Amino acid sequence: MAAKTDVFQSPDYFLLDELLTEEHKLIRDSVRAYVKKEISPVIEDYAQRAEFPQQIIPQLGALGCFGPTIPEAYGGGGLDYISYGLMMQELERGDSGVRSTASVQGSLVMFPIYAYGSEEMKKRILPKLASGEWLGCFGLTEPDHGSDPGGMLSNIRDAGDHVILNGSKMWISNAPFAQIAVVWAKDEAGEIRGMIAERGMEGFSTPSTHGKWSLRASATGELVFDQVKIPKANLFPDIRGLKGPLSCLTKARFGIAWGAVGAAMDCYDTALRYSKERMQFGRPIAGFQLQQKKLAEMITEITKAQLMNWRLGVLMNEQKASPAQVSMAKRNGCEIAANIARDARQILGGMGITGEYPVMRHMMNMESVLTYEGTHDVHLLITGMDVTGLNAFK
Ligand code: FAD
Repeated sequence: MAAKTDVFQSPDYFLLDELLTEEHKLIRDSVRAYVKKEISPVIEDYAQRAEFPQQIIPQLGALGCFGPTIPEAYGGGGLDYISYGLMMQELERGDSGVRSTASVQGSLVMFPIYAYGSEEMKKRILPKLASGEWLGCFGLTEPDHGSDPGGMLSNIRDAGDHVILNGSKMWISNAPFAQIAVVWAKDEAGEIRGMIAERGMEGFSTPSTHGKWSLRASATGELVFDQVKIPKANLFPDIRGLKGPLSCLTKARFGIAWGAVGAAMDCYDTALRYSKERMQFGRPIAGFQLQQKKLAEMITEITKAQLMNWRLGVLMNEQKASPAQVSMAKRNGCEIAANIARDARQILGGMGITGEYPVMRHMMNMESVLTYEGTHDVHLLITGMDVTGLNAFK
């Protein structure tokens, strides 16, 4: 397939740029320029071949997209949450798989090492992850425990200066290419502990997951642990229980909320341009009321979601955002992006199902984004529990 020119123009119906600082706009524009130059021309081919574009690892590192909120002393960007959100928005505007690579690295691997790791671990590992020299992955989900990770079966047993890790994790983004994995497993007391498994440890393997119709340009795999010796220095010393992994997920879900809106913006922009150019019955299809209804609803939902994300970013910066607020924004972003991708696909008619346009790829990607990091239903139940005080999970 021929390389494509990316003519994206960002929708900003409520002049939200006025809420951003000059630094925010500079960061957003540099990631947007990167996506136009390095991602858009090639991503469709990678997705069609179901291949992970490995070159993005050092590129995203150089761009500062790995761990932007981690302090500079550990190789991070030392930036605020609006900057992080804008980066994720722009990356997912290109492809959800590219954003997933950055989300996992920054929020699910670097964040727990920064928040829960020993000083030695932080100094040894974080700069390598920030630069993209190493790729990391996050192992929480198991074959029989997805929405209910507290039931996990992966376990560790004390063996002196190390622990023995057994179990398996499924659906792990970045796994096939990762040098390290942040893994969650239960100790003898049944408490969830976090630790770092390193590629090359005996008994640790990362088989690839094949046959996905979604996130095809993202590498997904399993983590299999067969009597793996993990040195005690690789355990997070002070964190116990589900709050460890859940705190990482809150950070990543914040990025997904912004990222999904990026995908929606790309679908809207594509559909708007196409509808003005495509002639039927002697006039542009954009002139027909039915197409205008779709476009008008798309830009309304995008604008509402952009406002929600911006406000959430401010609350994150002020350390006032609750996990339930992040759940709402993640769910909302995914919902509007999935609906907008579907409507945009219809506006493009038959062309909408081809790789000539990014819409069908975004639409299929959104099916994963709706499900991972807490399903659409689970986030609704979190909002329900937050407003009623009643737990409807069990
Ligand atoms: P299940 O938990 O089996 O859910 C199936 C259905 O039941 C869903 O619709 C769900 O909403 C519903 N359901 C479950 N419980 C309830 C309830 N109490 N009330 C009502 N409905 C309920 N995991 C990682 O740890 N690391 C990763 O890097 C990672 N990357 C992923 C990448 C991809 C492409 C995908 C698809 C998944 C990834 N995941 C990852 C796993 C993901 O987080 C899980 O798929 C998700 O949590 C849902 O788990 P499940 O698939 O087992 O579905």
